[in-house]
Amino acid sequence: MNDFVIKCGTLIDGTGRPAIHNARILVKNKRIAFIDTAISSDLDNHHIVVDALNKTVMPGIIDSHKHIINNGGSGIGIGLNIKQIKENLRQICYGGVTSVLDLGSADFIRIIPKLSWEQPKLFYAITILTCQDGYPAEYMNKKYYKLGSVKECQTEEDIKKAVKSLFKKGVAAIKTAVVSRTFDNKPQKCWTDKQLQTLTNEAHSYGLKVCAHITYIDDYAQAARCGVDSIHHAAFDGKMYEKDVEEMIKRDVIFVPTVSLCDLTIQGLENEWIYSKNYHPPVNEKIKENMRIFTKAYRDGSEDKPVGDFFVKLSKKEFKKTLYYQMENIKEYIRNGGKVAMGTDSSLGFSLHTTPIREIELLALAGLSNIDAIKASTFTSASVFAKENEIGSIEVGKFADILIIDGDVSNNISDINKIDIVFINGKMMYSKKEHPKTELWSV
Ligand SMILES: [Zn+2]
Repeated sequence: MNDFVIKCGTLIDGTGRPAIHNARILVKNKRIAFIDTAISSDLDNHHIVVDALNKTVMPGIIDSHKHIINNGGSGIGIGLNIKQIKENLRQICYGGVTSVLDLGSADFIRIIPKLSWEQPKLFYAITILTCQDGYPAEYMNKKYYKLGSVKECQTEEDIKKAVKSLFKKGVAAIKTAVVSRTFDNKPQKCWTDKQLQTLTNEAHSYGLKVCAHITYIDDYAQAARCGVDSIHHAAFDGKMYEKDVEEMIKRDVIFVPTVSLCDLTIQGLENEWIYSKNYHPPVNEKIKENMRIFTKAYRDGSEDKPVGDFFVKLSKKEFKKTLYYQMENIKEYIRNGGKVAMGTDSSLGFSLHTTPIREIELLALAGLSNIDAIKASTFTSASVFAKENEIGSIEVGKFADILIIDGDVSNNISDINKIDIVFINGKMMYSKKEHPKTELWSV
């Protein structure tokens, strides 16, 4: 099936344009060859026609902040093994995510696209570049530094060398962190303006975008003024300063709030999902055991002290406040016309590779129209790593990464859950009929 036509009921093309009805899409040699919007079309006589007349057709979802080798639970690398990574990738595809930007992983991630596994298009940053003793030194085991997950740089030369080396490894973006205090409120080493500006200048000279991990309101200003392209995570600790939001928007910074991580984890812990016989996370026993321990620690924990062994040192009270502040910060960014992109930061806590849609629902709840929430999850996500000319919308010339949804997404964003078919490069990666799967929740 290399050459076929999709007859669309509702087409949402991912560019932010309103939905159109009764269009036909011609897919040829992995790409979108033609879109016909005329009332009658020769394409109707094509020898292969996929009938989506009662359905919604939209671009594949692009998750612009993921960690494909992580698996949920309270920490990094719990239950990690090859079988689980393979399962993660399958879950990502079946969930409608056709491209992923992995932001922080070991060097071996470069092998994965070469494996003949069911998987989305995989783009990666590999190494988090940080200053000497900077984030994530406070929690990340040094063995991960050795595997290539983190590189500390001090001099300008160090920074330039590190960026060049990542460019040569084929990264899609540079990941850094701008974090000036630790989880328990102590000062933390962070970039100087000069260092961070060197990093962004150097990355830009190779055509690479810079993604910055930030969680505290005091750090957004520095990232914006030093030329970072996208800021990942809405602030945990309060409402972001108005002038910082203004500056980010003025500089066209893409905001990737990753709010579903907190939302799903609170829901999972409060409602003790892991003890429900109807909850079937597609993870191994070691991870499930960790989820039980995490849940118990939350149940037994006091309101004011950090919960169990969660690597982000939040108390129950702070957990709930974080979700509130994050939502307020997204609303503010949207209200002021800022660009927002979809990223789940999964898998961590109870934000799993199977649950990407929650992030899209929350972006809509924060004020995006359904059409704009889809644009944020497709076209804008692709621009986080400068691939918006290849993927992220249904336009002639682009790769045929397409979802067919058994519902009307323009009216109900949660209908994205009703995925019927997933195409990547015009190849059917998933169809509800042919790929029976265990749902996360049974009734
Ligand atoms: Zn992350």
